[in-house]
Amino acid sequence: MAGGARVTPVAPTLELRNLSVHFETAAGPVHALRDVTLEIAPGETLGLAGESGSGKSTLAYAVLRDLPPSARLAGDVRFDGESLLGKAPEALRRIRGRRIAMVYQDPKSSLNPSMRVGRQITEVLEIHALASPSAAARRALELLDLVRIPDPADVARAYSHQLSGGMQQRVVIAMALAGDPQLLIMDEPTTGLDVTTQARILDLVADLKRRLGAAILYISHDLAVIARVSDRVGILYAGELMETGPVAELFRRPAHPYTRGLLEALPDIHGTRGPRPIGGRPPERAGAMAGCLFAPRCGFAEAACAQTRPELAIVGRTQRARCLRWETVVATPMTASGRLRVRAPAATAPPVATVEHVTKHYDEPGALARWLGLARPPVHAVDDVTFALGAGEVMALVGESGCGKTTLGRIVVGLVPPTSGRVRIRRRGTSAEVVDDAEFRRLVRIVFQHPDSSLNPTKRIATILARPLKLAGVPRRGRRARVRELLEAVRLDPGHLRRRPRELSGGEKQRVAIARALATAPELLVLDEPLSALDVSTQASVVELLMDLQARLSASYLFIAHDLSVVRHVADRIGVMYLGKLVELGTADEVFRPPYHPYTRALLSAIPVPDPSAPSAAVPLEGTVPSARRPPAGCRFHTRCPSKLGRICEEIEPPLLSAGGTHVLACHIPLEELRRQPPVRP
Ligand code: SF4
Ligand code: SF4
Repeated sequence: MAGGARVTPVAPTLELRNLSVHFETAAGPVHALRDVTLEIAPGETLGLAGESGSGKSTLAYAVLRDLPPSARLAGDVRFDGESLLGKAPEALRRIRGRRIAMVYQDPKSSLNPSMRVGRQITEVLEIHALASPSAAARRALELLDLVRIPDPADVARAYSHQLSGGMQQRVVIAMALAGDPQLLIMDEPTTGLDVTTQARILDLVADLKRRLGAAILYISHDLAVIARVSDRVGILYAGELMETGPVAELFRRPAHPYTRGLLEALPDIHGTRGPRPIGGRPPERAGAMAGCLFAPRCGFAEAACAQTRPELAIVGRTQRARCLRWETVVATPMTASGRLRVRAPAATAPPVATVEHVTKHYDEPGALARWLGLARPPVHAVDDVTFALGAGEVMALVGESGCGKTTLGRIVVGLVPPTSGRVRIRRRGTSAEVVDDAEFRRLVRIVFQHPDSSLNPTKRIATILARPLKLAGVPRRGRRARVRELLEAVRLDPGHLRRRPRELSGGEKQRVAIARALATAPELLVLDEPLSALDVSTQASVVELLMDLQARLSASYLFIAHDLSVVRHVADRIGVMYLGKLVELGTADEVFRPPYHPYTRALLSAIPVPDPSAPSAAVPLEGTVPSARRPPAGCRFHTRCPSKLGRICEEIEPPLLSAGGTHVLACHIPLEELRRQPPVRP
């Protein structure tokens, strides 16, 4: 707990006392953490939440004493009763990786691609002298079993690139557990994973906590994830601990306006409350800081807030909030922004895009390879997908990694040619197909997932935005005015024009990418996971911007996403894909209530919700998506389907059949039976 009387009955495993960290820079000190006091008991999980740049990862690296040389620490970090700040490097090395272990966001950065998985685990055991070479191999299999990897012996022989992202993260967790650590630090371990994989990793973390008794520091920007795994929660903002308390109390009665902001940034899965961004930006942490750091963004601020730095106030038995007005905050009901998408598209207008029996197979073997019998089967990325996208319609495509949604988006935008089938694009309000390449490129644009890789880092924003205009033949004078208009449309100020992408935050970069896509006034925008690299508050502001632009420009969106709760608020219709096939399509309301396709049901039940009392996934989806080179016969979902009927599912592919209204789904289970299923998270 932070501040107030100690209630932890046993000595804490980790204790931070007034920990401050700043970095020396040429422009003066940059404050990353200020006066953070908290502790974690054995067997307890502390969830640490906050936006990007709030200091969460700095705190983790400070505990590991793994900060760059420019870092200056004050206060104390105590582990198992001893201060780590005075420890010699050799003593720290013995603690790190053994008694304190860390799991990072990207499992690839922790795994050696040229070494078998089993050998990587035995190496950790040998480095820390935890097992003899003969016992290490057996212990490696036990650890893989502990993290619930099926067939540990097979996985031990594999290389990391042969495993899915979820399996790789399990291997990294197994390596972290090799030393039987007293403290496990997990830094965004599920960010970037599919919602189904995330649900299983969160179940694993909860299970490991019960079985191992280690203290866990779980870091995430997403309070829905924090609610799922934590006993207590700490909220960091601009390097300061703003609120802390038991998970149930803090979620039931958040007492700091910033905690409320993080909760309101999450869309609810019932479709009644849309994501609501926290206005403004975190403060620059250079120089002196007076008053409450959150004041410039706080809807509860009053004059005193700008002068007085609040102390952590006692809100409940162990709940504390750094706010002068916490009593008013808890007495004020949470705000609801309502659904973001309220306008249905005109049903009578001709579609702007029709996707007709589109198939994409990669790696098709040549005639010679087939003749020599050396042909490998092709990758079935997309198989026989058909749908139409109306004028001004927002259609979402969802599914796990490898389901084909990104390939389909690229086919629609003309970046990838289909193997068979075709995509027709029409100008809004006409039935004539666009055949001219230049007009097609102007009317159909894409926003990619990672603005870092899609924006040229050497160019200024003005040049990046002017380029598509130049290619479209807009004269120089007109270009300058249009670039300013675009910047204003995505709510960035003109000062950004002279900056380069690396000088912008993740959200600002994505706004530039959106502005660039809008440069040619497109009528169809393909949005390829535009939110998945952003934290929840930034996601909420980008979603709000996208929907505002859509309402003003009446463009159609093909919104590719893996987050179904956001999709519910923005999409008119949702298509669910599995292993290259469209398995369900309907309006957002049709897809979010029975009858569900069994795969959609599993996806919906895996969505984390910001409610610590909510049960874990009711329909656990085991196993991984089969290889797209050899998709299963019959229903492609039959190898993982919890409702599989039997041979009919293994042998006969179910057709897409009407489930009423615009709703279609592909399953052999009779519709009446699917209709009788209880709703997911009623
Ligand atoms: S102290 Fe004032 S500005 Fe700071 S969070 Fe509380 S109400 Fe808002
Ligand atoms: S067809 Fe069979 S395997 Fe496929 S989703 Fe339906 S019940 Fe499951």
